[in-house]
Amino acid sequence: MKILTIVGARPQFIKAGALSREFKKYPEIKESILHTGQHHDENMSEVFFREMEIPKPDFNLEVHGLSHGAMTGRMLEGIEKVILDQKPDYVLVFGDTNSTLAGALAASKLHVKVVHIEAGLRSFNMNMPEEVNRILTDRISNWLFCPTETAIKNLEKEGFQHFDLKVNLCGDVMQDASLFYAQKASNAILDKLNLSSGYYVLSTIHRAENTDDKGRLSEIVSALNAINEEVKVVLPLHPRTRKIIADRGLKTNFTIIDPVGYLDMITLTSNCRLVITDSGGLQKEAYFFGKFCLTARDQTEWTELIEAGVNKLVGADSKAIIAGWNEKKDKHFVANAALYGGGKACENIAKALLRK
Ligand code: UDP
Repeated sequence: MKILTIVGARPQFIKAGALSREFKKYPEIKESILHTGQHHDENMSEVFFREMEIPKPDFNLEVHGLSHGAMTGRMLEGIEKVILDQKPDYVLVFGDTNSTLAGALAASKLHVKVVHIEAGLRSFNMNMPEEVNRILTDRISNWLFCPTETAIKNLEKEGFQHFDLKVNLCGDVMQDASLFYAQKASNAILDKLNLSSGYYVLSTIHRAENTDDKGRLSEIVSALNAINEEVKVVLPLHPRTRKIIADRGLKTNFTIIDPVGYLDMITLTSNCRLVITDSGGLQKEAYFFGKFCLTARDQTEWTELIEAGVNKLVGADSKAIIAGWNEKKDKHFVANAALYGGGKACENIAKALLRK
């Protein structure tokens, strides 16, 4: 079975790290990896391949720094060439980025079967580029691997049971990644940043809905400044957000660092007091490590965390973020590992594909 896996953005490298490791256990599976180039530098790409021992990409399109349309168009053209040349049985895509959509679209036009990992997630906010990418990708996929029951229900509401495709509840590959790489993480980053376990807040902010909106970003920054008066706030910052903060002259008094590799990120998450983020992946990692998460968005795809009372939507409202911090800063919980499949997602995917 020849699988062409498409990656391009940070969370996809992490997911590929877990899934490629599983695929290697099956001699029937021959995987090659195509990197679109969407995230491309040391901090956002190379460190993941190196530290997580992800096989070096067989193809690299080096498409980055373009508008959504230009980026997706160039990727589509490049991926099509590789598919025509390699003739894979499946093209496998992760999540909801432009690389996801380009991979799925190129494959489906060439009648190559599309495997979508993280299918069925919805925010119901069509202004998010990610929502557009995931809905279109789901519709042209042949194998839809869903991380949660909620994702399965979303597909049912959209009538997917009437289409000629396979839907599988496999669990979340991010949990597989967290469990595996947590064994390899060290505490060195805590010493380097002079952090004591349990005495800092970890934050990441990168969603366009927050960074592109002046009001929303300054509300979030002002909340992080206020919380930092009480306990250190550490923000590994996406280069795009760093530039926007500098261009707008926003004042920050918390600790901004360059993006870190996944092993350091696991250490930062598992030792923090609480997480404040607009990231999809980090919401779940906070849960896996038993940390409350304040989600700086108006919706989340991971609604089971809201229902479990361990994640709170605080939007981009500084008062709500600070109130959330005051409410949750001393609360503790133990995660239910079964909620996201218990670390068996990759095995479930490989076995399902081999059963065909
Ligand atoms: N992450 C990382 N280093 C960082 C910031 C985030 O390794 O400096 C990881 C994080 O732990 C999570 C993933 O990147 O696993 C999330 O990626 P991102 O927030 O870019 O995308 P999203 O999950 O929102 O699609």
